[in-house]
Amino acid sequence: MKKNIYIIGSGFSSLAASCYLAKAGYKVTVLEKNSTLGGRARQYKKDGFTFDIGPSWYWMPDVFERFFADFDKKPSDYYTLDKLSPGYEVYFGENDSITISDKLDEIYQMFENEETGSAKHLKTFLDSAKANYDTAIKDLVYRPGISPLELVTTKTVARVSQFFSTIRKQVRKQIKSNKLIQILEFPVLFLGAKPSNTPAFYNFMNYADFGLGTWHPRGGMYKVIEGMVALATSLNVQFKVDANVEKITTDNNNNVNGLIVNGENIKTDLVLSGADYHHTETLLDENLKQYSEKYWSKKTFAPSSLLFYVGFDKKIQNASHHTLFFDSDFDKHAEEIYDTPKWPTDPLFYANFTSMTDKSSAPEGKEAGFFLVPIAPGIEDTEDLRQEYFEKIMDRFEKMTHQKVKDNVLFKKSFCVRDFKEEYNSYKGNAYGMANTLMQTAFLRPNLKSSKVKNLFFTGQLTVPGPGVPPALISGKIVSDLIIKNEK
Ligand SMILES: Cc1cc2nc3c(=O)[nH]c(=O)nc-3n(C[C@H](O)[C@H](O)[C@H](O)COP(=O)(O)OP(=O)(O)OC[C@H]3O[C@@H](n4cnc5c(N)ncnc54)[C@H](O)[C@@H]3O)c2cc1C
Repeated sequence: MKKNIYIIGSGFSSLAASCYLAKAGYKVTVLEKNSTLGGRARQYKKDGFTFDIGPSWYWMPDVFERFFADFDKKPSDYYTLDKLSPGYEVYFGENDSITISDKLDEIYQMFENEETGSAKHLKTFLDSAKANYDTAIKDLVYRPGISPLELVTTKTVARVSQFFSTIRKQVRKQIKSNKLIQILEFPVLFLGAKPSNTPAFYNFMNYADFGLGTWHPRGGMYKVIEGMVALATSLNVQFKVDANVEKITTDNNNNVNGLIVNGENIKTDLVLSGADYHHTETLLDENLKQYSEKYWSKKTFAPSSLLFYVGFDKKIQNASHHTLFFDSDFDKHAEEIYDTPKWPTDPLFYANFTSMTDKSSAPEGKEAGFFLVPIAPGIEDTEDLRQEYFEKIMDRFEKMTHQKVKDNVLFKKSFCVRDFKEEYNSYKGNAYGMANTLMQTAFLRPNLKSSKVKNLFFTGQLTVPGPGVPPALISGKIVSDLIIKNEK
């Protein structure tokens, strides 16, 4: 008889794993401490406006296709995707923005217009990015990160130098325009570290950006969560919300034998945690933790974020569905996140207005605005600071886009370090896990399988392969394969 598996958390990685494990015949129950499913990808609704609380960029559509295909399904069985055109817009100053087309030939032209000769360099760069994408996404990231040998293939050996050079160096070798450099360095920010600390091999993110495009599920990213929950339910996965896991219990041989959930003992043979890795280990007896506080404190974490969900009583002009504000000093902001953590002096920020392309997210004639300021994890978070930064970015937004919006705010809700900790038990309030630096790649990341507790497994953005929605889907698959293999 197949085992009972309890999964802690209902983020993308947990939902993916729940589907694979249920398909393999396990009796799967997902326990979520919050009252709604989806983890960092939950939804916030107010007065006819709908916001994705966390992720909003749908990249790497092939990874979603591959996930659903494993269950003989397609994304279109659950949601409708639109390719965004333009993909996004980047502001560099007042009235000074570049839109990123959804067509590669137009992107080459835009590069050439900015810097003569740069289109040729971009072509070479993207050829290498595509080759890396094919190696990484179609193969490497689906490995469980158990041994360094997983990284050694005929293809990776030929590219070994790219693991020891950085994106920053690679981009700056040929491209000189500061704007184009910022555009090319932007995609690796999804991996949580500075471009100067991210291996050049990760330029496959640039292929994901320019080559595969930016998509939007109609109704928002939460439609993907709903689709996965529907798939899981059809496979007999049980969901329990408001189910806070307080303890993972073990027998004398360090085998998992149960959980304490809202004060109640539950027996189980196997636990998979998709909650933040550091938090999961706090649910164990001290001697059963694999990683010390010192270990975690030395790791490079992805930034935390100050977020605002804003309902505007009018349509916004001079911006796109996704708009980046790179009109300040990127290096200084990065230093204030990673090197000398403090509230940024003059932050870069990101805004999305999903209602510009998706009418379902705001009432007629109004706009749903989402604003994100990356900040250092663990820094002080007060209402006053949130308000100060709201004013700062609204002023910048008004100035850059030449319009008044402050008096058009119907409501705003903020989310920051304290909320990441309280709502997700996130280490230092990180927004999207542990960064993919060279020393935090593959087998160098926290293990999928506990080395101290039998039948305890981990998934999600702090383990393999790393931060982001597509990696979370992949993480759910590889940990499920490991669990299934472990049983044989
Ligand atoms: C603001 C923001 C913007 C982002 N933007 C993008 C983007 O545009 N594109 C992209 O691809 N990625 C983006 N990401 C990253 C992406 O959202 C995450 O990497 C991914 O959703 C993480 O999924 P997960 O399964 O690892 O964990 P989570 O989504 O964090 O799920 C973990 C779950 O565990 C639950 N939990 C914790 N402790 C317990 C407990 N004791 N008992 C029960 N349940 C518990 C939590 O409540 C949570 O629901 C963004 C993230 C954030 C925060």
